[in-house]
Amino acid sequence: MLPKSHLAASDAMESSADMSDQIAENLSLIRSRIIHACEISGRSASDVGLVAVSKFHPKEAVEAALKAGQRVFGENRVQEATSKFPDLRHTWPDLRLHIIGGLQTNKAVDACRIADVIETLDRPALADALEKAADKVGRLPELLVQVNTGNEPQKSGVPRDDADPFIKTCMTRFGPKVRGLMCIPPEDEDPAAHFRFLTDLARRHGLPVISMGMSADFETAIAEGATLVRVGSAIFGTRPMTAS
Ligand SMILES: *Cc1c(COP(=O)(O)O)cnc(C)c1O
Repeated sequence: MLPKSHLAASDAMESSADMSDQIAENLSLIRSRIIHACEISGRSASDVGLVAVSKFHPKEAVEAALKAGQRVFGENRVQEATSKFPDLRHTWPDLRLHIIGGLQTNKAVDACRIADVIETLDRPALADALEKAADKVGRLPELLVQVNTGNEPQKSGVPRDDADPFIKTCMTRFGPKVRGLMCIPPEDEDPAAHFRFLTDLARRHGLPVISMGMSADFETAIAEGATLVRVGSAIFGTRPMTAS
């Protein structure tokens, strides 16, 4: 079941054609902002991927983005992703799904079935669950280790000081499936220092993928080395207050 925001998101748009146009326009704007941010920091635009975060938005919104050329999507919850994406894959076989929300161990099997990338590996118990799940399903998505760079108690992610040993253990255990790191900086702090920390950490471990930056700060993240930015509301519109 889709959450109530399904209605809210659609009602906010005058018609589904308007919704599609708006999403296409937003995507095109975000793509030019990414290119511009890359130019400013002397990076190649092909080094920065866009994850369109479609959580709390209906399947129709994802379809509109697919028609506008977007192929990589992010969802917070495995259950919501399962209700939207398997159908879409039939029509768009090259679509890629990232799980970007904190993952409970009892969702590991479903996550291994549905995701191409899990961005939120953050604790030994989850590593155990994913290893078992991958055995069972016969498939392990690519993995990013989420680092709680601000050591915020309410946030998922391995605490900053435990990151080095945890990343090492994961790389030993999962080999090249561990592709990189992800973070969400504290809302009330300058994100740049957090982004820089994550980039340094990734480089030290020789990991190529650095997922950081959202609607409000993706350009800063690109300046600090992001190779993936996760943009939701600037593409799909605002979510209800309950969205996380
Ligand atoms: C919701 C979410 C995003 C996108 O946030 P916006 O501010 O809407 O761009 C990115 N990353 C994670 C982990 C999220 O939960």
